[in-house]
Amino acid sequence: MGTRTVLEGAEISRALTRISHEIIESNKGVDGLVLVGIPTRGSSLAHRIAATISRIEGADVPVGSLDVTMYRDDLAHQPTRAPQPTDMPVGGVDGATVVLVDDVLFSGRTVRAALDAVNDHGRPRAVRLASLIDRGHRELPIRADFIGKNLPSAKHERISVRLEEHDGVDEVTISDA
Ligand code: 5GP
Ligand code: MG
Repeated sequence: MGTRTVLEGAEISRALTRISHEIIESNKGVDGLVLVGIPTRGSSLAHRIAATISRIEGADVPVGSLDVTMYRDDLAHQPTRAPQPTDMPVGGVDGATVVLVDDVLFSGRTVRAALDAVNDHGRPRAVRLASLIDRGHRELPIRADFIGKNLPSAKHERISVRLEEHDGVDEVTISDA
């Protein structure tokens, strides 16, 4: 089968605009909203969504980044990975509605770790989840509230999320490899 493009740049952009509107609608505006990206590409997506929300609502939205590596339950099974930057908004997350943002949702273990990590920064009023791609195969009772695209996939398939900020191009592809 090789490699197939599942989202082109314009489609990624439309999906992020839709997600931004959905976040505003469910939060009834930007009050108490904090976006927290999971590095690396989730952080870029969080910044893009925050910029779009700010443009729509005319108010700034705090954005943070959270390294969840040390909170993983499968840490011992993971290849060693350089620590990612954690950079939480100065206002913290106490009483906030935190929207976690990641590029791909798979087993759900990263999100579970992110919930632990958020907890170390305060007690949000609520935590939601936005993911550009939901590829299925959950191993935990976790679902996304805001989804760019549901992409049913075989377990062995690999989804590549390329973003301008990192890769010079916006596209999502799926491949056999
Ligand atoms: P999970 O913890 O839900 O199994 O996997 C989600 C995390 O691993 C996300 O941070 C995501 O970036 C990464 N991930 C899992 N599967 C894929 C995939 O097929 N493609 C990409 N690009 N990232 C993935
Ligand atoms: Mg990731």
